[in-house]
Amino acid sequence: MALITKAVKGTQDVLPSAVYENRFLERAMTDIAGKFGFNEIRTPVFEHTELFQRGVGGTTDVVQKEMYTFDDKGGRSITLRPEGTAGAMRAFLEHGLFNEAMPQKVCYVISCYRYEKPQTGRLREFHQFGVECFGASSPAADAEVIALADAIFDFIGIKNLRLEINSIGCPECRAKYHDALRSYFGSNKSGLCRTCNDRLERNPMRILDCKNSACSKTIAGAPVVTDFLCRECSEHFEGVKKRLDAMCIKYLENPRIVRGLDYYTRTVFEFVSDEIGAQGTVCGGGRYDGLAEELGGQHVPSLGFALGIERLLLLMRAQAVPVPQPEMCEIYIAAAGEAASIEAARIVNDLRLSGINSQTDVVGRSVKAQIKYADKINAVYSAVLGDSELQSGEILVKKMDDGETAKLGLENFTEEFLDLSIKHSRGAVAELIGSHDADISKFIGGFL
Ligand code: ATP
Ligand code: MG
Repeated sequence: MALITKAVKGTQDVLPSAVYENRFLERAMTDIAGKFGFNEIRTPVFEHTELFQRGVGGTTDVVQKEMYTFDDKGGRSITLRPEGTAGAMRAFLEHGLFNEAMPQKVCYVISCYRYEKPQTGRLREFHQFGVECFGASSPAADAEVIALADAIFDFIGIKNLRLEINSIGCPECRAKYHDALRSYFGSNKSGLCRTCNDRLERNPMRILDCKNSACSKTIAGAPVVTDFLCRECSEHFEGVKKRLDAMCIKYLENPRIVRGLDYYTRTVFEFVSDEIGAQGTVCGGGRYDGLAEELGGQHVPSLGFALGIERLLLLMRAQAVPVPQPEMCEIYIAAAGEAASIEAARIVNDLRLSGINSQTDVVGRSVKAQIKYADKINAVYSAVLGDSELQSGEILVKKMDDGETAKLGLENFTEEFLDLSIKHSRGAVAELIGSHDADISKFIGGFL
């Protein structure tokens, strides 16, 4: 086969055999967010470029190097979203959601686009689960958002994730910190890469986020932001920590975390793993009290996080975290001959309308080949329908794993099959619950 093209570099197909993992995660995350009062919002994949220039920030790597930007046929500059916060905030402001009950708490599962060097945990199309809490300035909101991320990892069964937190202060304390950084890095210019030398004037905090190993030594000796926090920012940070302590959420204070957005204020945090290579940050978030005004809106103190779904999946695989299996074919009805095929079509349609995953032949295979197929797709039960079954009105149903059989009537097949299989499905539900921590089983309601 000579295919004319392949998937674009840095993009991934999720094949039918694996997609249940994504669906499980998407559902788990939105359901748990729902318990915390976060409701789903859907915004477009592309936006006007200026939204991200302003909403992510002109000094960030995302805006400077990573955006998929193009002119549409009307000559407007369009950008595929590199992240979800700017679009969600735009929608919040544009639709006047600030007139509704505040805070507005939203969540989303989105695809994002960044022109980066593809490697493990770094793609050009990737997916995020994100939450935003618009209109809450109290440390209680920060603690709640962090607790939500923590609850999600807990529910999924992830172990050994490190929560690192920091406060990067408000514009006032940050100005003093910027001065201190400029003077420190200014006298250590030779220990910085070219990009960081450029960053020195425009946004010296960006240097702390530099991945270039040449810079790390210099960065290690830089002043830390927490030494520059004003009283209000210190108290805010203390308030966040007290609540995390009260909820028994363990964290590490890391004064080096500054995060990617230009408009982050006060609390910033990351959930980091050492088990998935260099791209170990699975979730990152923080407060961005200045963003709404940056986009032309009023003052809306807000915060959120974004969790990288591909990185989470890498981590789940590294830790062999069990995921509930997708629904299988409950029964395969093999048909011998045209009359049997027609009756099989009626029976499986009836089963399906009653919510039972069932299959019959649609390619005209021999009975032997049909049973082989049933085995391949892991059908739980199988049955062969031929002339004698049509005549007697009864059919032998066989459990594929242990060969146990039962005779069921054709006329009320669905009801009789439901009675037979109920034992099996009870088993499956028990397995689903058993695969997760008992103390978080309260969240499982949504899955059944
Ligand atoms: P990094 O430092 O790894 O580049 P970032 O600070 O650019 O991350 P954010 O903008 O905070 O990342 O995005 C939130 C999360 O989205 C990250 O923690 C990560 O899990 C995921 N993510 C970011 N960029 C990519 C990518 N190119 N491919 C896959 N996942 C990504
Ligand atoms: Mg990045």
